[in-house]
Amino acid sequence: MILTELRQATGTLRGVGEKRAHLLHRIGIETVADLLQHYPRTYEDRATIVHVAEAPRFTACAVRVSVVAHDFFIARGKRTLKVVIGDESGRAALLCFGRNFLSRTFRVGREFFVWGYFDLRRGEVQASRFEAEPTERAHGFGRIVPVYGLTEGLGQQAVRGAVESAVERFASTLADELPASTVESHGLKDKRTALGHVHRPPSMDAVVPARRRLAFEELFLFQLRVIQLAAERRARSTVAVSGRTGGPELLHPFRGSLPFRLTDDQERVIDETVADMERPGQMVRLLQGDVGSGKTLVAVCAALAAIERGRQVAFMAPTEILARQHARSIGRLLRDLPVTMALVLGSMPAGQRREARRSLHAGETNLIVGTHALFSSDIAYARLGLAVIDEQHRFGVAQREALTAKGLYPDVLLMSATPIPRTLALTVFGESDVSTISTMPPGRTPVRTHITRQDAVEDVYRFVERELERGRQAFFVYPRIDTSGDSRAAVDMHRVLQERFPSHPVGLVHGRMADDEVDAAMAAFGNGATSVLVATTVVEVGVDVPNATCMVVDHAERFGLAALHQLRGRVGRGSHGSYCFLVYDPELSDPAKERLRIVFETSDGFALAERDLDLRGPGDLTGLRQAGLPRFRIADLRRDMDLMRETREAARRVHEADPALLLPEHTTLRSAIERARQEDASIADHRR
Ligand code: ADP
Ligand code: MG
Repeated sequence: MILTELRQATGTLRGVGEKRAHLLHRIGIETVADLLQHYPRTYEDRATIVHVAEAPRFTACAVRVSVVAHDFFIARGKRTLKVVIGDESGRAALLCFGRNFLSRTFRVGREFFVWGYFDLRRGEVQASRFEAEPTERAHGFGRIVPVYGLTEGLGQQAVRGAVESAVERFASTLADELPASTVESHGLKDKRTALGHVHRPPSMDAVVPARRRLAFEELFLFQLRVIQLAAERRARSTVAVSGRTGGPELLHPFRGSLPFRLTDDQERVIDETVADMERPGQMVRLLQGDVGSGKTLVAVCAALAAIERGRQVAFMAPTEILARQHARSIGRLLRDLPVTMALVLGSMPAGQRREARRSLHAGETNLIVGTHALFSSDIAYARLGLAVIDEQHRFGVAQREALTAKGLYPDVLLMSATPIPRTLALTVFGESDVSTISTMPPGRTPVRTHITRQDAVEDVYRFVERELERGRQAFFVYPRIDTSGDSRAAVDMHRVLQERFPSHPVGLVHGRMADDEVDAAMAAFGNGATSVLVATTVVEVGVDVPNATCMVVDHAERFGLAALHQLRGRVGRGSHGSYCFLVYDPELSDPAKERLRIVFETSDGFALAERDLDLRGPGDLTGLRQAGLPRFRIADLRRDMDLMRETREAARRVHEADPALLLPEHTTLRSAIERARQEDASIADHRR
């Protein structure tokens, strides 16, 4: 039996009644397997007994004392019990706020173990948070005690008790998911020992190897699943075929006709992508590149390769603004080629949409650009061969699944300008499924970043004014649309800035405007009719106006590192020197200032992503979550990156030796993987 097969309800355990089972359910624990995988958050070392005199040096510690006396003091007008305790090193006081009844338990002369948060106050060692047990019948002392995540109404004791009965009854019956050879060659603990030690460590030293073993297993199973899925994808027959189908040649003439030279990175990534599309099996490729590195061009090349082969291409953008912008710029690029392009947006008039649908279904449209409307149920493709998904972190897995649900397995090119640290990208995508552009097209001058206090914002205005006088343009970004309380909002600032720059037309764009208004505002800024664009983060991704040289972000502290980097990427797209001003509230906390300083210091998106990872951990890497990185139960990607690499190697070795896991030593591994699949499937059902 493997752990995840312990499907019986927690209520079947000794000491877990219906009420506790119900409370456990609230924190997502239904089965014994869930309970055994409810790993401790931390541990209390109640095996090491500390002298009372030393106790304040620890956050919390265990002492062994006898009760010396009862004393009383007044706290908030109430007579409050103080239990004086002591050992051979000295005395301490337990302050029993609202618990005078404890005088009956702490009888003078009796011996206790006390776990307390001791401090030295007014020359006295004191604790008001403590737990105690008489030495003659102490259960919770003389050992390391796990501390679990809790829910209201469910105390540590209750969870500890429940986990303990589960460990006692089931740990010894468990089979090891990991092949014996893997356990041995990586110096791991066996499953039973590791599970026992993680919940009830014999010493603090036992915790690390137990956790390591369980984290290894968790990451190993995940990596093996990723490898298997990639192999399945490769084996799946897709609509893509190799070779052209007699139509006109597109990619080659297009590459030759560009007004600039592709960067080496672009050339390489185009070749990688086209080669991957020509291989049988479905491609799912992540194309990473900093903002402005020229990913769109790579995608257009991939699209042309698919169209040459008689396939249709869907190009999906996260917002209507971007979809329209892509349609415009791709339209311009493909002007001289025999490619039919259409645009589908959710907000389109019914008649227009019907026509787009018809020509797509009839196969007359080669390339369709749009938002997620592209994959809504009324859209049918004649022969979809490639789906390009721009700013993939903005899309849910759900939208990507919608595609698959249509029974289509087109090649998929996911583009992201929110770089995922390579080590992490490789956990979701295979080594050969990530293409990275790490150099910028020539002629770009790096954006100069300034950090400015809110009360000095007039200096920024003066600077921007000079740029406007030179014919340049500026973005002003605000965290909110309307005023709400203290923060400055786009709508109000539109008025304020128009007054401040009376001779320069100021436009406004935000997420609650009607689409045609947004379009008009973007177009006006794009063609220079307005010089200043006041915006919310709708301009965060993709917007391309080379003449804009200033990006002013107000309340910059409210934006994430990735968002700030994206915003900064809106300028510096032409040949003029560009500037980004991060304006912050002077009341800012130190960590928030630190984040702004990181953006100030780091202009490389990949380096920024790594710093972000250090700073916040990968929990916020929405891109990866969306791409399919699960929440791990015990592995912690901040600490366990080395283990991540080690397990990838280990999983690869097992997969190469025995792809279907048919060898006898892989029997339990195969069941573990099958269970994981069933769980994936039920999660997917749930979402539908
Ligand atoms: P990304 O999508 O990666 O943020 P884009 O594809 O929008 O970047 O490219 C930014 C700008 O750079 C576009 O105006 C594009 O035409 C231009 N560009 C792309 N590749 C090159 C190149 N090799 N040389 C010069 N300009 C380029
Ligand atoms: Mg882009």
